[in-house]
Amino acid sequence: MIYLDHNASAPLLPSARAAWLDAVDHFPGNPSSPHRIGARAEAALAEARQRLASILGCAPHDLIWTSGATEGCNTVLQHAAAADPSAPVWISAVEHPAVRESARHYFGSRRVEIPVDGRGVVDLDWVKARLVAQRPALVAIMAANNETGVLQPWAEAQALCAAAEIPFFCDATQWFGRRPARGFGSCTFVAGSAHKFGGPRGVGFLKVAATGSLRPLLLGGQQLEGRRAGTENVPGVLAMLAALAWCEAQIADGGDASRLALRDQFVVQLQAMLPLVRLNGAAADRLWNTVSVVMPDGDCRQRWVVKLDKAGFAVSTGSACSSGSEQPSHVLIAMGLTPSEASRAVRISSGWTTTPEEWRELLNAIQKIGEGLADSNASADFR
Ligand code: PLP
Repeated sequence: MIYLDHNASAPLLPSARAAWLDAVDHFPGNPSSPHRIGARAEAALAEARQRLASILGCAPHDLIWTSGATEGCNTVLQHAAAADPSAPVWISAVEHPAVRESARHYFGSRRVEIPVDGRGVVDLDWVKARLVAQRPALVAIMAANNETGVLQPWAEAQALCAAAEIPFFCDATQWFGRRPARGFGSCTFVAGSAHKFGGPRGVGFLKVAATGSLRPLLLGGQQLEGRRAGTENVPGVLAMLAALAWCEAQIADGGDASRLALRDQFVVQLQAMLPLVRLNGAAADRLWNTVSVVMPDGDCRQRWVVKLDKAGFAVSTGSACSSGSEQPSHVLIAMGLTPSEASRAVRISSGWTTTPEEWRELLNAIQKIGEGLADSNASADFR
């Protein structure tokens, strides 16, 4: 099976696996325990915090460990709603459901969507114009979209919000491990999740505001200075750091440029083979690993995903959370696609180890499936 669904979950990297096993052996204690075994676990976490802080460019104290990005997003939205109970929240129209749904839950009708253009890029002029007279409790703009890979101008948005003294939240879940993590420390809040970049599932981090207190989402313990109750996942955190360090080293070596070339070559060949295939976010900068396309077949995207699965390729229809749901993707609709087009979207998301041969094999499989579908559906035009 060729795995091309890294945006849903990336396989555990060998360095992360080794770090996890090592931590299980060497740090068996609870970091809150008063004895030396507990203190050793606490020291390992403190060192991990230091390392992550230097990667992101923030203070170690600004970081808390979470169970993943969903928890991080919920924490930020509930904190912002409590900090300013009457102000609205502005979220981009293409946020992951972890932001959309928690904004809906905590802000209700005070949730305002920032539009995106046809490329899927957030409209910063919209933000700029409104910040002159309005004061939202929080502005939330993700770093890279999970469905299309489209990169957002998060650094510019952060600067606008900092100048207006408005808290800025960046869900950078799909960015980390694929593009440099440096610079995110300047955002008020940043969420990351280990399993998107080759760490274990069920562990993540949240960068929080350097000043003021954070209203915790989880209650029941004084861990992380009372900002996140619950025993810390020491092996998970250490494995997450090992995975992030490995990915950062690939990026520093320029490994992303060759992966980008592979992605682009695949798209060119796919469109030469099936000219009616439409690339989502084609005119925008996108993650080197993500290809989101609207397939030409009159049937729904599930048909392609199921047929590719049978042919030995794991691809997806969009975000992991909304896969299988009947609703058309809010991301693609926000970009101006019709529900019918959105229902034919297929997402291919590669990883650092995806080879040119695997891209080629995928192309061959799509060609075969396309021919089969054309035969079985004479009305569809594949060429
Ligand atoms: N945010 C984005 C952009 C994501 O892609 C995902 C997962 O697909 C999440 C948040 C949720 O992450 P987790 O699985 O760590 O809760």
